[in-house]
Amino acid sequence: ENFVIALDGGSGTGKSTTAKIIAKKLGITYLDTGAMYRAVTLAALEKGLPAEEGAAMDELLSNLTLGFDSENHVLINGVSRESEIRGMKVSSNVSIYCALPSVRAAMTKQQREIGKKQSCILDGRDIGTVVFPDAKYKFFMVTDVKVRAERRYKELLEKGEKVTLEEVLNNLVERDRLDSSRATAPLKKADDAIEIDTTHISIEQQVQKILDYVGV
Ligand code: C5P
Repeated sequence: ENFVIALDGGSGTGKSTTAKIIAKKLGITYLDTGAMYRAVTLAALEKGLPAEEGAAMDELLSNLTLGFDSENHVLINGVSRESEIRGMKVSSNVSIYCALPSVRAAMTKQQREIGKKQSCILDGRDIGTVVFPDAKYKFFMVTDVKVRAERRYKELLEKGEKVTLEEVLNNLVERDRLDSSRATAPLKKADDAIEIDTTHISIEQQVQKILDYVGV
């Protein structure tokens, strides 16, 4: 029997790192739903499309084919654009584009199609509340914002991105604010999700907590 693990939480709480390890351990699929919203945002920015509903956005969405390679990197019309979707330009715009109902509807549909075909762990903001409200397992990760900013800052520096800690912190705070306050599918803990605070625990401990609940 296929099952879904929903892993939601704010920006930079370590969801994707945790989800990747769990997917590997359980031999299930990992779906990075944030990468999908980042991909749409990159495509829209490249076309010079404003974050507005309308025919142009509908056309972009219907012509955009998202896929994933063996490393779980999102493919935009067949091409991995990993470094661009993770950069500050996309990070600063994604929460505006992803709030559009047309964008959410298109991504939610694709996520459900993937999640219904196989057992998987999805990380995102609205997986346990909207995409898979009946998921067998639901977790919600929270972390002190300073710890999140420091972790993300290190990652970006390692990738050679020129950012300051302050920019990274402001981006995390602003994305959480926009993600929590949007009308469609806001960032929110599902009532039946288990909250995990990762401020003072290691990746290994986060993973183990989830595996304990899942019973492996
Ligand atoms: O997970 P990540 O931080 O890469 O997601 C990037 C952005 O995509 C989030 O800040 C949020 O605005 C949006 N997102 C969303 N719903 C999801 C996943 C991501 O709105 N399920």
